[in-house]
Amino acid sequence: MFESKCKSCLESVKTKRHVLKDEINDAIDKLSKNKNIKFVSDEVYEHRLLQCRECKYLELGTTCMQCGCFVEIRAKLRDLGCPLSKHKRWNPAK
Ligand code: SF4
Repeated sequence: MFESKCKSCLESVKTKRHVLKDEINDAIDKLSKNKNIKFVSDEVYEHRLLQCRECKYLELGTTCMQCGCFVEIRAKLRDLGCPLSKHKRWNPAK
């Protein structure tokens, strides 16, 4: 039996993971067309995702249980950081 701490979405995330990957890529593609949204470099992105993959708050390899974001999207965004109040695993880029 699947147990989750999330109120609503994680069961659907688990059962539709192949669809979810396409949806995440589509969301990143749409965000990339907004000139007001800045992305990090590929190197910074990979570093951030590595931190998330090693984090106890990552659920199903996709979702941060601290903020509810899909980490593959959040980690792309230059101005966002890891939401932990102490011991952030990554910070907003400059
Ligand atoms: S954003 Fe921070 S708290 Fe969330 S999974 Fe990644 S490293 Fe963990």
